Amino acid sequence: PGTRKYTGMVEDCCCDYETVDAINEEVLHPILQELVTLPFFRYFKVKLWCDCPFWPDDGMCRLRDCSVCECPDNEFPEPFKKPYSGLSLDNMICQEGKPQATVDRTLDTKVFKGWVETDNPWTYDDETDNAEMTYVNLQLNPERYTGYTGDSARRIWDSVYKENCPKYPSEEMCQEMKALYKLISGLHSSISVHIAYDYLLDESANVWGHNLPLLYDRVLKYPERVQNLYFTYLFVLRAVTKAADYLEQAEYNTDNPEEDLKTQSLVKQLFYNPKLRSACPLPFDEAKLWQGENGPELKQEIQKQFRNISAIMDCVGCEKCRLWGKLQVLGLGTALKILFSVDGENHLNQPLQLQRNEVIALVNLLNRLSESVNFVHEKGPSIEEVIKQQ
Ligand code: FAD
Repeated sequence: PGTRKYTGMVEDCCCDYETVDAINEEVLHPILQELVTLPFFRYFKVKLWCDCPFWPDDGMCRLRDCSVCECPDNEFPEPFKKPYSGLSLDNMICQEGKPQATVDRTLDTKVFKGWVETDNPWTYDDETDNAEMTYVNLQLNPERYTGYTGDSARRIWDSVYKENCPKYPSEEMCQEMKALYKLISGLHSSISVHIAYDYLLDESANVWGHNLPLLYDRVLKYPERVQNLYFTYLFVLRAVTKAADYLEQAEYNTDNPEEDLKTQSLVKQLFYNPKLRSACPLPFDEAKLWQGENGPELKQEIQKQFRNISAIMDCVGCEKCRLWGKLQVLGLGTALKILFSVDGENHLNQPLQLQRNEVIALVNLLNRLSESVNFVHEKGPSIEEVIKQQ
């Protein structure tokens, strides 16, 4: 193994590279890898057939591996089919005139009140948009090399980056815009890492494996892309730890008692892990953002930009890339909602409410980022060593 290239604090975060690698390897990666195989987290509801709102479909995908196999109706969990039984927002906020409100409002400490169907202001499509939604088994549709390249893929990334900072040259970018750019760039790095991790090395013999030169050319060669990957990982981790009470109390029922118990136990280990809490108690400090005098307007503007990025995912011309693009952007949108749509700890003003699909996206996104951090940490130094010697 070569020497460590990245040391010190991850830029704009509150944790250093060594700690991130250690907690990822020892704590988060093993828990997440198991969690995403369990029934609650492996079925994602998604609208795969949708018209691109920006330009005509130019989808070009070379491999059969582009297509997604959808779940037959009898495969995904029964409870996912039932309408939500959760309380409405009104029941949670408006306590006036209710006997329990006059007694002690704080008695009801349960923050999770059931899965809800509320729109996420950060995303373009979500669970409330039920038309043509299908369930996909993520375990059967891994994110990997699909052969989706060329103008179509390039146009998506170009539009996504243009959406990020339409007006400002980089030196004038405020820290909120910078954070949004880094989130997207970190996600892009992670997608590239997964392509390199699971690549079709020999098409005629159908041999899959690591493509280390691709990992170097697309990610490792650019320190900023690696830094942004770590930034995105810590940002999403902060959202997950901030929503820990809610997520720990949430209902993970799939009518499969044995598996559901395992889910509950892993969720607890993930959200209340003492090692994680002591090593990296505040992965990202969201309170630093939106402090300027134009904070509220800026938030609205960035929210609109992120919604547009989410809409662009409908234009991804390869089904499997679209599936993972939508899932991961919804996961980021959920992290943004947790960090910036709820006022501090005061859940009474604006209680945190999440959709089941948002939590599935959030945890799967964290798992993908965790895999990428792991692969970069494991392979990075040795590849750099080989390159140096050439
Ligand atoms: P691209 O990755 O297309 O990058 C385009 C340009 O963006 C680069 O030239 C560079 O200037 C800039 N750039 C690259 N990385 C970063 C970064 N981290 N930060 C900032 N700027 C950057 N392909 C698959 O095989 N499997 C998939 O699952 C898959 N999923 C995708 C999901 C989405 C949402 C999109 C848009 C594309 C997906 N693709 C997938 C395609 C893949 O991301 C690449 O676009 C494709 O492999 C072509 O790569 P490229 O080398 O031309 O550079």
